[in-house]
Amino acid sequence: MELNFRGKQVVVTGGANGIGLAVARGLAAAGGSLWMFDLPGHQLDEAARSVRAQACPVDVTDRQSVRQAFDRIDHVDVAIVNAGIGETKPLTETSLDLWDRTIGTNLTGAFYTLQAAAEHMMPQHDGAIVLTASTNSYDGEADLIAYNASKAGLLGLLHTAANELGPYGIRVNAVCPGLIRTRLTASSFANPKLLSEYFKHIPLGRGGEPEEVAQAVLFLASDLASYITGAALLVDGGQMASKFGTWGKEGDTFDGQRWSRVRFR
Ligand code: NDP
Repeated sequence: MELNFRGKQVVVTGGANGIGLAVARGLAAAGGSLWMFDLPGHQLDEAARSVRAQACPVDVTDRQSVRQAFDRIDHVDVAIVNAGIGETKPLTETSLDLWDRTIGTNLTGAFYTLQAAAEHMMPQHDGAIVLTASTNSYDGEADLIAYNASKAGLLGLLHTAANELGPYGIRVNAVCPGLIRTRLTASSFANPKLLSEYFKHIPLGRGGEPEEVAQAVLFLASDLASYITGAALLVDGGQMASKFGTWGKEGDTFDGQRWSRVRFR
């Protein structure tokens, strides 16, 4: 069995950067016809050109914008609901503006996209939707109250939509990435002291690459996952399985990006 998206029309929101772009590349390589939804600008145009996608300027916080973009497509087989933002602020300093922008993009934007995708797919009695949630859907990383709430909310969308859309042959799943090297996390990846502590709690000893999340997204979106719906797949190097941390024993070394253990013990 192989990953095959030939003949499938695929929408990717937030497709011009990071995880979304890696997903778009993977889908294009597997034969999909892509519709890249992202904020207007040269990044969207260049990214779309690089994977031979249709560039669709869309602001996912604007319901009309999302619906109009979907209406350009006669038949949607797969929707990757990925656009997101994140900004750190302590609870007491989180402004209403930051709260609204974050919930508006990550949760309400996902709702608009999910709803429009469902409306297109239900008459077809076929389709696959993958949400980009997060390990922060589950845990309480400090200074990310709006982000964490938005990502926890995505699990509510996931479970409800899987229930409602199953009878129409539409599968809805999510990936929950840990720390992935993208623009969103560039400052963390440029801080070896932070990484050394952070990655102590990741059994694989390192952060993830966008392509590693894309592989999980492609699987869930493909026919290889034909009996999987309502699932949230952690793509976190084992972070959520590690209660007290894995690394930092005698002989463990950190090279600025990853922990390693040379001796077997
Ligand atoms: P990036 O910032 O690299 O990419 C996000 C993309 O979403 C950008 O192209 C951005 O456009 C677009 N976008 C932002 N707001 C909107 C909007 N209103 N309408 C349409 N497009 C929009 O981030 P990542 O690739 O890291 O993140 C992708 C998803 O993965 C997000 O949902 C994020 O929360 C999630 N995630 C990321 C993790 C990580 O460690 N990187 C971990 C867990 C989850 P523009 O460039 O114009 O701003």
